Amino acid sequence: MTTIANNFKQIRTKIAAAAHGAGRDAAAITLVAVSKTHAVTAVAQALAIGQRVFGENRVQEAAAKFPALRAANPDLRLHLIGPLQTNKAEEACGLFDVIETLDRPRLAEILAKIHTQTGQCPELYVQVNSGNEPQKVGVAPDHADDFIRRCRDDLCLPVTGVMCIPPIDQDPTGYFRELAAIATRHQLANISMGMSGDFETAIACGATTIRIGSALFGERAAIKS
Ligand SMILES: *Cc1c(COP(=O)(O)O)cnc(C)c1O
Repeated sequence: MTTIANNFKQIRTKIAAAAHGAGRDAAAITLVAVSKTHAVTAVAQALAIGQRVFGENRVQEAAAKFPALRAANPDLRLHLIGPLQTNKAEEACGLFDVIETLDRPRLAEILAKIHTQTGQCPELYVQVNSGNEPQKVGVAPDHADDFIRRCRDDLCLPVTGVMCIPPIDQDPTGYFRELAAIATRHQLANISMGMSGDFETAIACGATTIRIGSALFGERAAIKS
């Protein structure tokens, strides 16, 4: 078995255990395999063992890596998990099935315009800046309710979930619970939270989508710019 195949097996076992511990069905938890900075060959190995959902944080990188893989695997699903510049919104709409990073009014307006013009839009998750961290994107928790209503009810955008990246140096439990509560208030089905270091806690708090990179594909090299 390859290292990647072995990593997937171990993570799947841990997801099952965490779901069981929380009295939840592991089948209701989507594993997004975060392939950013990793080569197409790594993605191909994951596809070979049945993984179908992937996450990338840059439009350009996804555009370089995924069209050929998608052509060969029509059931592949791709999530954008990094910030989206408005001038790349249209390209992103053509590449991704889910944009997890709807984080500001200007982007919502641009996506609504594309939606109106083309009749198409990926599924959208509203990104919440759980810790109100100045260096992070996302709508402040206090503004999340208003922003979700504006996107869904006024702009008619297909918002189906919420996403967060809590502060790295703190216990994420409170942040995860808060995100789950926001989703419940708005009857949003998808709660994207939990990464390599904290996905078991996220599952205990109700995550339906977890985003795991390094625990599957190995450590990332320094971020390419
Ligand atoms: C890179 C990234 C991940 C995966 O992080 P790991 O710690 O490698 O599992 C998850 N979510 C987002 C938004 C990311 O940018």
